Amino acid sequence: MVGIMRVLVISDIHANLDALQSVIEDAGSVDQVWCLGDLVGYGPEPNECVDLIKSLPDIICIKGNHDVAALGEIDIRLFNNEAKESMMWHQSKITAENKNYLKNLPEKYESELVTLAHGSPRNPIWEYILDPYVARVNYEFFKNGFCLVGHSHQPIISSWNPSDGVLEWGSPQPGSTITLHNRMIINPGSVGQPRDSDSRAAYGIFNTETLKFEFHRVIYNISSVQSKIINKGLPFRHAQRLSGGW
Ligand code: ZN
Repeated sequence: MVGIMRVLVISDIHANLDALQSVIEDAGSVDQVWCLGDLVGYGPEPNECVDLIKSLPDIICIKGNHDVAALGEIDIRLFNNEAKESMMWHQSKITAENKNYLKNLPEKYESELVTLAHGSPRNPIWEYILDPYVARVNYEFFKNGFCLVGHSHQPIISSWNPSDGVLEWGSPQPGSTITLHNRMIINPGSVGQPRDSDSRAAYGIFNTETLKFEFHRVIYNISSVQSKIINKGLPFRHAQRLSGGW
């Protein structure tokens, strides 16, 4: 971790190449990229997204539930109908080489400073941190100061002060900056399928020296992605939801 300063933090890309490209361009020069999983699922360009992620010079990437599902090794009956339909399409289109990349991604990443997990540190692939109660329980499952998660597609700031037992929970304003302190769980939001009623792609910039974390949103070409989803015969709802951010 020594020498790393400006880190681009992304999650839940969901095969949305237009959103991913806009985020990378908007973020500008960074020293490292941390990707919190769900590279594929829902969107029209899974291979293009995996290729772009693989090509980033300094990338730490962990796997999400959709990355696991794309390998065809788990039961996808728990997915809703449209997610299932889309997942079967992804399973058939993702190349063997890219499946191999997804398969070999770790479930969790831990350094002295930070833990990265797709869902939660307790259950990295599947658990959603959607409320303060689940957040509180998860503070027992990582040792270092901060845990960065995705999966819910909603930007979240949570902090826990063990000395007075105070747990804080809230949604960051787009464009806001906070200084991380022990101990916090942060979700940067989703690049490719935001679900906080803001259609713009979400990402974070974390400075590992100042511990400042910026919550960013960037406009991308939604109609381009929607056309690709429709042209490739993927569920219409997955095109529709991008304009509303749900
Ligand atoms: Zn996701």
